Amino acid sequence: MIELTPENYYSLETDWEYMSFSQFKNFKECEAKELARLKGEWEPAKKKSTGADPLILGNYVHSYFESIVAHEAFVEANKKELISSRGATKGKLKSSYQLAEEMIKTLDNDKLFDFIYTPGKKEVIVTGQINDHAWKGKIDSLVLAKGYFCDLKTVDDIHKKHWDPANRIWTNFIEDRGYIMQAAIYQELIKQTFGKQCQPYLFAVSKQTPPDKGAFDFEDTDTQYLMKEALEEIKEKQDRFWQVMNGEVEPKHCGKCEYCRSMKELAAFQHVTDIEVD
Ligand SMILES: [Zn+2]
Repeated sequence: MIELTPENYYSLETDWEYMSFSQFKNFKECEAKELARLKGEWEPAKKKSTGADPLILGNYVHSYFESIVAHEAFVEANKKELISSRGATKGKLKSSYQLAEEMIKTLDNDKLFDFIYTPGKKEVIVTGQINDHAWKGKIDSLVLAKGYFCDLKTVDDIHKKHWDPANRIWTNFIEDRGYIMQAAIYQELIKQTFGKQCQPYLFAVSKQTPPDKGAFDFEDTDTQYLMKEALEEIKEKQDRFWQVMNGEVEPKHCGKCEYCRSMKELAAFQHVTDIEVD
């Protein structure tokens, strides 16, 4: 096994040895797309919007609360995207990213956030086994001595509703993005790495003006149940995903995602009544 470091954590090389929350989630969405990504044959298209790139915006906020050094390194590495090269704002943060500064401020000035999130050890890599398979995780902020860990998420709108086609109900962003599963995985990996059961917390900050914020726990019985269920789901589905990775079974194409659309060839007619809708 390759030892995980901050440098190789997000590499394809380590993705072939350790399953992660995002990889599992990707496989659930579309096996063909995720296999192509792992093989380096395909990557998601860069969004052609004029506004802020959501990933860069998120990492800008994230790295600020990691450390000054991490934040400066991130800004330096993404200078072209972040810093204006002409006009009145030359040398300053582009207007599309000034929202990130507001998002930072709203958390920076918050007493609960400062008390709970700030003292933790940042970007802690954890590993472990779920049944027969190796897993990796990276904890945003871990306070082992007090038995909790935090995740920091940026979100469009904390109160936006999301359609869950499987259960045919509206859900919130935490359920929609699978963060309950992520919390369950991280709790398990922390336990295996440090021998301690820790409680998850999630801080969210929105991209609205002014930004909204929220602090969430996972302590109610319903959420506890959903966390258990999420680990069961992993145990049930992960064997197949490894078989796909090892070439033992053919990946399923979801037929709808950007990868499948780009590979699509019409082979036969489908009945009108068989079109899947969300
Ligand atoms: Zn697909």
